[in-house]
Amino acid sequence: MGRVAVVTGGTRGIGEAICLRLKDAGYTVAATYAGNDESANAFSEKSGIAVFKFDVSDFEACEAGIAKIEAELGPVDVLVNNAGITRDGTMHKMNFERWNEVIQTNLSSCFNMCRSVIDGMRERNFGRIVNIGSVNGRAGQYGQVNYAAAKSGIHGFTKALALEGASKNITVNAIAPGYVLTDMVRKVPQEILDKIVKTIPVGRLGDPDDIARSVMFLIE
Ligand code: NAP
Repeated sequence: MGRVAVVTGGTRGIGEAICLRLKDAGYTVAATYAGNDESANAFSEKSGIAVFKFDVSDFEACEAGIAKIEAELGPVDVLVNNAGITRDGTMHKMNFERWNEVIQTNLSSCFNMCRSVIDGMRERNFGRIVNIGSVNGRAGQYGQVNYAAAKSGIHGFTKALALEGASKNITVNAIAPGYVLTDMVRKVPQEILDKIVKTIPVGRLGDPDDIARSVMFLIE
């Protein structure tokens, strides 16, 4: 059995591609998800990868989720914080719930998951953590104060934790993908997507496997 790798939001989109790459490379993979049992079960059946359902925005659920994964698969050496959501809307139309849901799911989740694995990584003197940020956390995006704030928060979180982990052989990196064709992007109205694609130098949306290959580069 290879090292154990956990990918949050690993059952669809970018997370699914990351899980498949990890499995191919010999890792024992755990894919987490929030509530879409149908796609999680279909993914698990097709890939043979174990799936675990818990809400990454809930600290206690993350602690319990990691304890379950470690009991079933072994100590977690690799963590990919990939789960994320959008709840878009301009500031003057955004309510606190939409702000908070994105901050908790996209940013506090990184604390919740890292806190649940960091003691073990420090004890074993090994860890690989990759956090999935976004180009919109670096440049901002109209209608996304919540998402841009959470994603740029991930970049600061990553840099600080990387300083703490270095002496314990724990590397912490972030990837800031551009637009990638997944369910998240399929929700964007076509006319807006057409405009976005025109700004992408290669003239196309990214493929989930583009991001998966970057994750492998950072953890191997
Ligand atoms: P996606 O296709 O919408 O898949 C999201 C995954 O996250 C699903 O497995 C979902 O579980 C899980 N998830 C959502 N909320 C969760 C929660 N509270 N607890 C646990 N799991 C949760 O998303 P994606 O496009 O692959 O995006 C993956 C990551 O890349 C996100 O962090 C996103 O912000 C980032 N990103 C995406 C793009 C893009 O263009 N797609 C660009 C830059 C960055 P269920 O299936 O149960 O809902």
